[in-house]
Amino acid sequence: MNLTQTSLAARPMATRTVDHGAIARNVRRMLRASGTELMVVVKADAFGHGSLDVARTALDAGATWLGVATVDEALALRAGGVTAPILAWLVDPWCDLEAAIYAGVTLSCPTIESLIAISRAARTIGIPARVHLELDTGMARGGSEPALWRALCVAAAHAERAATLTVTGVWSHLACAALPGEASIRSAVQAFRHAATEARAAGLAPSQLHLANSAAALAHPSTRMTMVRSGAAIYGIETVAGQRFGLEPALRVASRVTQLRRVPRGTGVGYLHEYRTSRPTTLALVPVGYADGVPRILSHGGTLSIGGRRCPIRGAISMDQLVLEVDATVALGDEVVLIGDPERGEPSALEWATAAGTVPHDILSGFGARVHRSAA
Ligand SMILES: *Cc1c(COP(=O)(O)O)cnc(C)c1O
Repeated sequence: MNLTQTSLAARPMATRTVDHGAIARNVRRMLRASGTELMVVVKADAFGHGSLDVARTALDAGATWLGVATVDEALALRAGGVTAPILAWLVDPWCDLEAAIYAGVTLSCPTIESLIAISRAARTIGIPARVHLELDTGMARGGSEPALWRALCVAAAHAERAATLTVTGVWSHLACAALPGEASIRSAVQAFRHAATEARAAGLAPSQLHLANSAAALAHPSTRMTMVRSGAAIYGIETVAGQRFGLEPALRVASRVTQLRRVPRGTGVGYLHEYRTSRPTTLALVPVGYADGVPRILSHGGTLSIGGRRCPIRGAISMDQLVLEVDATVALGDEVVLIGDPERGEPSALEWATAAGTVPHDILSGFGARVHRSAA
């Protein structure tokens, strides 16, 4: 066997192809819809699309901020050469705060404890931190409890006078923005505005005020403030219940048929023989499994697409492989589309999410490292 020729023909087991044109168009749609600054959320490797490449596309298309969950994610963007403002919102006293401040990462601050840790790190390296204070407006997740907000602002103003930090923003996150006409939005907006007023009364001058995620930016104009934070919409996920905004999915995930076999009726397929063939048929092996992000629950009723036709998954999905029942036209090496264009009869992230009892965000961010990524 000629090994050189073999490696020239080598292809990864599974690929995800990212359409950066679609991402850029979604960025411009969100800029037009909001009329504000746009922070593109590139956490979790940009929902599986590749944080560094998406960051560059988003900034080229007019976004002015990037949002990530962790300090590590922010530092990876800086290491990749991104100089735009970045907000990290899962900041705790045990993060590498000195590295984050040195790299000019804006840090979210929800508590006095965080404020103290950020101030201390800033004093150690002699560089003031940029901080966005985070308020909880009714999600009971992160953010300052409303009762502690005034004290947080007073402490932040004290730290500003000591030149260890500058509060450049105030922000919060909405629990129920996906529901049009949702009553709790009104009280959250009121609480947010009140908090911004209290921050100013404490002597702070935050210039960035942001509350809206994708759904809020699209469905609740009162939440837009000076900037909106958008993740889902940028990746083509329609998150407002019952409404569509023409957002384009950007991810295509495909693998291929690596083995074919004819089997008789009554053949048990896969672990525990959870499926038995109901007739003589053809089975195709596909080298992707639940470790690659295919929800194991798709073992029961899931279908993938070969040449525009749906083929049912048979038997339990394994960690690294699954089996499809196919017709006689399918050939070795045929492309198997896991996530593609529903207009062409291919599965979508929404279809998988619905079958798996989850949201498309979970599907998109769930593809494993073995699913090789490239730009379209
Ligand atoms: C993930 C996240 C977002 C993005 O929300 P989408 O609904 O994906 O637009 C915005 N803000 C925070 C704090 C987040 O964690």
